[in-house]
Amino acid sequence: MTIADFAPESIAFSSGHYIGGKAVAAGQCIPVARPSDLVDYADLPVANADTVDHAVADAARAVASSGWATRPPRERARSMRRWAELIEERAVELGRLEALGSTRPIAQAVTGDVASVAEGIRFFSEWADKLGGEVAATRHDHLGLIVSEPYGVVGAITPWNFPLSMASWKVGPALAAGNAIVLKPSELTPFSTVRLAELAVEAGIPAGIFNVVQGNGLVTGDALSRHPGIAKLSFTGSTRTGIAVMKAAAESGIKPVTLELGGKSPQLVFADADLAKAAACIAGSLLANAGQACVAGSRLIVQRTVMDELIGLLKGRLATVTPGPTWKASTGYAPIISETQARRIDRILAESSQQGAECLLGGGRIEGHGGAFYQPTLLANVTAQTAAVREEVFGPVLTIQAFDDEKEGLALADHPEYGLAAGVYTADLGRGLRAMRALKAGTVWINRYSRTLDFILPTGGYKSSGIGKDLGRQAVEANLRHKTVLIDIGV
Ligand code: NAD
Repeated sequence: MTIADFAPESIAFSSGHYIGGKAVAAGQCIPVARPSDLVDYADLPVANADTVDHAVADAARAVASSGWATRPPRERARSMRRWAELIEERAVELGRLEALGSTRPIAQAVTGDVASVAEGIRFFSEWADKLGGEVAATRHDHLGLIVSEPYGVVGAITPWNFPLSMASWKVGPALAAGNAIVLKPSELTPFSTVRLAELAVEAGIPAGIFNVVQGNGLVTGDALSRHPGIAKLSFTGSTRTGIAVMKAAAESGIKPVTLELGGKSPQLVFADADLAKAAACIAGSLLANAGQACVAGSRLIVQRTVMDELIGLLKGRLATVTPGPTWKASTGYAPIISETQARRIDRILAESSQQGAECLLGGGRIEGHGGAFYQPTLLANVTAQTAAVREEVFGPVLTIQAFDDEKEGLALADHPEYGLAAGVYTADLGRGLRAMRALKAGTVWINRYSRTLDFILPTGGYKSSGIGKDLGRQAVEANLRHKTVLIDIGV
C-alpha cells in the first residue's frame, strides 16, 4: 500500500460524543491541539455527569432491547468480523484521522496501528462462542454448572499514546462477551475512537452497544468511573490516575476494575548476548512513538564487560531519526504529545543532571519543527535514586547501569514501583529463564522486545503497573461474570 502525505485541514471528523448511534454535542468545549505543530484544530465538548448518565442509559437500553447479548454468539462474531473488514477497507481514512491528532506518523498509523486494530477485533470476535462456562464435577445426583454471563454495561477510559489500539483492546473483548460499552478517549486524542464506533454500527453492531463520551479526566472520566450503572471498569493510563479511578469506582459501589498503568521497564543485557540484536531491540523500543509507550524499555542494565560496546552500537542506531509532521509519509519519528509533556521531560533530565547523571547522547529538543520533538537520549552515571531511573519519563530517554554478576543485574532490574515489562538478552537459555522467574514483571521478552500480533498473549502489570490483563483469553474472561448453578437431578 502506498501511503501519501495529506493536508491536515482536509480531514473531516465528528467532534462530539457518540451515544446510541448518534452524534451528540453537549458540554462546554475545550481546544484540542495537533502534536505535530501544536495548532488548535478542534473544540471538544466535555461530557458532564448528565451526559455520561445519558450514555450509560442508552447503553443499558441497547443491552435490554438490541439482542446483542442474547443473539447466537456466532452472529455477534460475524458482525465483529464485518467491522474488522470495514476497518481494513477504511485504513487510510482511519489512519489519517489517527495521525492528524496524535503522535502516530501516517505510515505507521495505517500499516501498524489500524492493521493491528482490525486483526485484534477479529481475534476477539473468535471468542464470542468459546467461553460459555463449565460443567462442574459435583455429587452424582446433581448437575453443577458455572455459567458465563456478560456484565451488561461496561466502562473504559483510554490514554493518548495509541488511541485506536487502546480503544480496540477495551471494546473488542467487551463486545465479544456480549456487553455494551461506554468509552472515554483521552481529551488529547479524542476523534479517531468515534470513527471506530461509527464503523461498528455500519458493520451491523446495534446502535448503543459502543458509545463514546468525550471530555477530560476530572469531569468526564470521574463521572464514568463512579457511575453506578457501569458494572465493570477498564482503565489504561498513568498509575496516579489509576489510583483515582479505582477510588472513584469503589465509592459508587463494588465493581471489578482492570488497570493498565505505567512502566519503567528494564532491558537486562548479559555479556554473552548477541549485542547487535540487543541494540536493535533496545533502540527500537526507545524510538517507537519517541518512547511514549507504556512498555518502553527505558532502563538499560548491562554487564560491565560489554557496556562500552553496547553503548557504541546504541549510539549508531539512535543517531539518525526522521522527525516531521505526522501527516508526512516520510516521517518516522513521533512528536512529543504536548509542550507540557516535553517540559516534563526537560525537568526530569535537569534534575537527573543535578544528581550527577552524564548525558552520552541527545539530552534536548530537536528544533525546527512546529511541535515538540525530543532527541533520543542516553544517560549514564545514574543510580536507583536518579529522577530518570525512578520516574516514568514517557519520552526517548534510556538510563544505563552496569552490573558484574547475575544477582546484581537482577537486583538492579527490579523497580520499587513498576513491573510492566522486561527484556532479557543472553545466549544461555537457563540464565534467560532464571531471569524470567526472578523478574517481577507482567511480560518478559527474551532476546526480543515489543509485542507481536499474537493477541493470544495477554498484557498487564505487576506492582503499581496494574491489575488484570488486556488482550488474550484473559481480557474476554474479565468481561464475563460467572453464575453458579446446582440442579438436583434426582436418583
Ligand atoms: P493519564 O492517566 O493522564 O490519562 C489517561 C486517561 O484517564 C485519559 O483519558 C484521561 O482523560 C483520564 N483521566 C485523567 N484523570 C482522570 C480521573 N481523575 N478520573 C478518571 N479519568 C481520568 O495517562 P495518559 O497521559 O493519557 O497516558 C500515558 C500513561 O498511560 C502512561 O503512564 C503509560 O504508561 C500508560 N499506559 C499504560 C498502558 C498499559 O497497557 N499498561 C498502555 C498505554 C499507556
